[in-house]
Amino acid sequence: MSQRQPRVALRVDWPQCTARGLCAELLPERIHVDPWGYPHVLGEVPPELLQRAREAAQACPRRALHLVEHRAS
Ligand code: SF4
Repeated sequence: MSQRQPRVALRVDWPQCTARGLCAELLPERIHVDPWGYPHVLGEVPPELLQRAREAAQACPRRALHLVEHRAS
């Protein structure tokens, strides 16, 4: 039986985010900023970007960026 990889997405805690865009600089493949500097997350995080997504979340000065895992049923 094969083990399915969890699907991982990035979530922003909007009340905590101060819109400085550090996360978008660290992970431009998956995070863009809107004209006001708020991050816009583009889809799920592929396995090859998972480590950098974790680093971007850890680097957020407001702890406003989170990785959320969910398994396909
Ligand atoms: S690094 Fe954190 S506070 Fe800064 S834009 Fe990204 S989510 Fe918001």
